[in-house]
Amino acid sequence: MALPQLSGCPVYQFKPRITFADGTQPAETYGVSIPPGLAPSNVPAPNFIPPTNMTSKLHDVSGHGDRLKIVHGLTVPEFAVTFPNMAQQWRRIGTGAFPSWQFQGGDVFLDVTLTVYILEGDRPQPNDEASRKIYAILMSHELLHVLDEIDIVSRWMPPKVYGDDKVLKYLTNAQPVDDSMFRTWFQGSGFTNWLRDGYWSAERERRKQLRDTAQEYTTQGDRIATLRAEIANRPSH
Ligand SMILES: [Zn+2]
Repeated sequence: MALPQLSGCPVYQFKPRITFADGTQPAETYGVSIPPGLAPSNVPAPNFIPPTNMTSKLHDVSGHGDRLKIVHGLTVPEFAVTFPNMAQQWRRIGTGAFPSWQFQGGDVFLDVTLTVYILEGDRPQPNDEASRKIYAILMSHELLHVLDEIDIVSRWMPPKVYGDDKVLKYLTNAQPVDDSMFRTWFQGSGFTNWLRDGYWSAERERRKQLRDTAQEYTTQGDRIATLRAEIANRPSH
């Protein structure tokens, strides 16, 4: 019996899917400025954490001690490739002990889950203008990273990955995948790892470096130090 084949190439599309781990918040909260290109609905609610947790997050992300002494804010993305309907998007072909699988098409999500961490000590106090300004400086900076992370999976990545060898072979041309590869690559994390390591990681690192220049830290640090001094010198009431 001949293996059933698709009559043509599968119709499919890489689509971005953005998830905010802690939800979103109204754009203008505490005077946070939204960078051009970031939708007001895409302003994440921050996750406030103590300094020790921030330090361990930094080590998770960079794998080594950072050049910064104190980090007040950090945007952490998690990347994954998802077939939203595995049962319909992959068909078992052949029978017996050695089945194969063939891609049928549909949406393939480039998922990014974003968490924005801000130091607990920088939580804005509603009755304290200086603390709100500090928060706005920190959050406005993190939103630049959020914009980059969204842009990578929305605009940068799709045109790149359509030309990828494995994508062309197993998705575009729907070559059958043996059962073991299907399990590890498409049910498991193999395909996610392939696209993360081959495309996503380097690009996000590149953009992160562009945002986190020494100059940016100095400017941000000076503005915060000025505001902190304002708080410290305020007459008590
Ligand atoms: Zn930064």
